[in-house]
This record gives sequence, structure tokens and C-alpha cells, in this order.
Amino acid sequence: MQDKPARGGARGKLRAHFLANLGRVMDSDELRAVADNQSEWARGVRELRTEEGYLILTHNDRSELKPGQYLLESAKPQPAFARAISKETRAFVLDRNGFTCQMCGAVAGEPHPYDTTRKTRLHLGHVIDKSMGGTDDAANLRAICSVCNQGASNATLTRPDLQKILVQVRRATAADQLEVLKWLMTKFPQQAKSHLLTKP
Ligand SMILES: [Zn+2]
Repeated sequence: MQDKPARGGARGKLRAHFLANLGRVMDSDELRAVADNQSEWARGVRELRTEEGYLILTHNDRSELKPGQYLLESAKPQPAFARAISKETRAFVLDRNGFTCQMCGAVAGEPHPYDTTRKTRLHLGHVIDKSMGGTDDAANLRAICSVCNQGASNATLTRPDLQKILVQVRRATAADQLEVLKWLMTKFPQQAKSHLLTKP
């Protein structure tokens, strides 16, 4: 029997290993060996992501990674705002946005529409960038998926306005319009029901 390693020991070893191997894909066996412990390594990786902000990528973030593979490309952790935002604010923003990416419409936990091998993972992004005076308030935050987050700097960040959406729907084929209707009725079951009941 060996003694339990000191708290944070596994995480520290993993951090050093990731930083010494930037850009190299590693698998879970390697990380388990680095952490000297069968059970602590997964938690260590998770804490490096959530508590220290390191963007350790998995198959959910990158299509070229297989399940059980990990990759750290940058030694720079995520900006502090992403970690400083409270759990409550995070939950509030995600709930307000319907757990849906506000750029591409991908839904958290579902296969990503642009790449169905990836599960959609949502992050918080700023509506008005910090560099433009935006704040970390819930009103200036929104849900963005990891796919859009990667290309966020060179993509248009504006949400299409209602007029543009209606034009797109009106121009769509009847089959596509029915898909939109189905989706809306699933999303708003109460409204769909009362609308049908009040219509003659
Ligand atoms: Zn997206």
C-alpha cells in the first residue's frame, strides 16, 4: 500500500507534463502514469481546465482527437473572467440562452451540427468585447459553443435580426419550413397548444 499523494500533487505533475508537451496529443494511459495514481488523474485534468483555465482539448473540442486523447496547445490559461464568473451567473446565462450556442444554434450535449462526431460544449462569451468596454455582467454574456469559440475572432458575432430570419424561413422549401415548425413546437409546447386551441 502506498500513501495518498499530497493534495494537488497529481494536478501539479499533470500541469508540468502538459506544459512540457504543448501541441502533442497524449492519451489517458500516459496521463495516468504521470499522475502516479489510478484515480486522481482524471480529476487533475478536470481541475486544470475548470480551476486553472487551461484549454485542454478533447474529442469534444476537436474532431481529430479520439476519445481518451488530450491536447494542450497554449500555455496561456483562459482569461480570468471565464473562471471568475460565478456558477449562478453561468447557469443563469446558459438557461436564458436555452443551452444553445447563440451563433450557430448548437445545443449543449447534442452532436454539433457542423461536425456530428463532436458533442456540443458551451462556453460563456461576451456580447460586447472586454476591449470595447464590455462587462462580465450576465447582460453582456452569452452561450457560445467550442466550435464557434475557436473561430470567434474572425466570425460575425451579430445574431441575425428577426427580419432576416423571417426572410430566410419564407424563402425555404415547404419541407424545411415544416422542420422549423416542428422544432418550434418542440421548443414551445405550451404556446403551440394554446395557439391551436384558440384558432377556429
Ligand atoms: Zn456555435
